[in-house]
Order: sequence, then C-alpha cells, then structure tokens
Amino acid sequence: MLVLILGGTSEARALAGVLDEGHTVLSSLAGRTSKPLLPPGEVRIGGFGGADGLAAFLSERRVDAVVDATHPFAARISANAARAAATTGVPLLHLRRPGWVERPGDIWHRVRDLAEAAALLPRLGRRVFLTTGRQEIAAFAGNDQWFLARSVEPPEPPMPTRLATVLDRGPFTLDGERRLLAEHAIDVLISKDSGGVAPKLTAARERGIPVVLVDRPPLPLGEVVPSVADAVDWVTRKRYGT
Ligand code: NAP
Repeated sequence: MLVLILGGTSEARALAGVLDEGHTVLSSLAGRTSKPLLPPGEVRIGGFGGADGLAAFLSERRVDAVVDATHPFAARISANAARAAATTGVPLLHLRRPGWVERPGDIWHRVRDLAEAAALLPRLGRRVFLTTGRQEIAAFAGNDQWFLARSVEPPEPPMPTRLATVLDRGPFTLDGERRLLAEHAIDVLISKDSGGVAPKLTAARERGIPVVLVDRPPLPLGEVVPSVADAVDWVTRKRYGT
C-alpha cells in the first residue's frame, strides 16, 4: 500500500516514521526551506501544479491513500488535496493538531487574519515579537512598531522598517523564550494559532504581555483527526478495508 503524506510538519515526519515500518511511504514537501528536516522513506519536493497536477500524480504513482499532514495554515494544498481526492477516488485524511486553548493569566486577542493583527498592534505595544513566519511579515510592512521577527529563512521585503531578525527553527525552550522576551523588552507577541508545544505562550503569560493570535483558515470538508496515532489507525483501516 502506497501512502502519500503531504508534509512539512513534525507530525508528518513522525507519521512517516511509524508507517515506514509496514507501508510504502512517499512524503511531499513544499520546498519552502533550503535545508528541510527530511522524514524517513521516499521524499519529493515542490508543488504538483494545483489540484489537477496532484490528481495526475496520484494516478501515475498509484497512490492508495493520502494523509494531508500539512501546516494548519497551508490552506491551498489542503484544498487541492480534497479536490484531487474527489476526482480520483483516493481516500484522504487530514491530520491537524488541535489549536491552542486560552489559560488563566493569558491576555489573548484572537483575530481573523494578518491585516486585523496589523491594525490592532498600535493599541497593544511598541516592541513586537513576530512569530508568524517569513511569508507573513509583509502584512506588517506599514506598521511603525519595532519588530523582532523569527523565521527559518531570512525574510524579504516588503517588511517593517524597524525590524531585527532571529533565524531559528523549533523546538524552542521556555528558558530561551523568556530570555528573548526579556533581552528585547518585548511587550506584545504575534502568532498564528498553529497548535503544538509553544513555550512562547507560557513566556508571554509569565511576563503579562498580550498575544495576538491569528485564527486558522477553515479545513475542506472530509475526515479529520488530531493525532499521529489516529492517522496510523486510519491508514491501517484503509489497508485492511475495515
Ligand atoms: P499553501 O498556501 O497551502 O500552498 C501553496 C502551494 O505550495 C500549493 O498550492 C502547492 O503547490 C505547494 N505546496 C504546499 N505544501 C506542499 C506539500 N506538502 N507538497 C507539495 N507542494 C506543496 O502552503 P504554503 O505556501 O507552504 O504555506 C502557507 C502557510 O503555511 C504559511 O502561513 C506558512 O507559514 C505555513 N507553513 C507551511 C509549511 C510548509 O511546509 N508548507 C510549514 C510551516 C508553516 P501546487 O499548487 O503547485 O501543488
């Protein structure tokens, strides 16, 4: 049984590791970073050419099942996967880690999109820790606050004029996050609601600073599970037709 994992997340890598024991696994990465963390098994990198390209790929490679384990904000590839699965009849599962839940002491401002986050900022702080990823920095190009932007690859213009960058890839530690917030006198944090382990949220709570949290885009209709173990169960059920 050939399983295509649409990846780019730690869950996708973990799933490939588990499935690689008893299935043929092919992982697909978008190619957004120059040195991606590679999962076990076969890996391909780069777009398919839209939903039609992905449908053609599924047919050519005789893919038996697809697990969309992409980032919760990678809405286009998820929509393409849904369309390609509908066209070809290949079963599709979305693996999505749950979003974050507010805890006592959190000062969260949920916004629908990056434009709303940029508009809200002047009311919340002057020194911003921006952790949305480099593709999103352009949304803040018109803001005059000071930004510390963290991303895996260097950001490109347009971007805010008052910007320092830290190039890094998680997982991050609580001590490290505390230090960053203190060293740069950060008074507001911006993040997408990516889910998963996030010591930055704990560090912000401890410091008593507000967090602007960008809501997730909606998932296409279809089967969704929250964990790697659930995805393994789903693949096993597909394999044995149960
Ligand atoms: P996207 O907007 O959903 O995808 C844009 C295009 O990239 C897709 O149409 C597809 O091209 C290609 N693509 C995306 N994921 C792919 C995969 N796993 N395998 C092959 N092709 C893939 O996603 P995005 O532009 O990568 O990112 C959108 C948001 O997700 C951003 O907020 C970003 O920060 C976040 N994010 C993405 C990743 C990642 O690995 N992609 C990781 C962390 C965060 P074709 O139409 O040509 O097939």
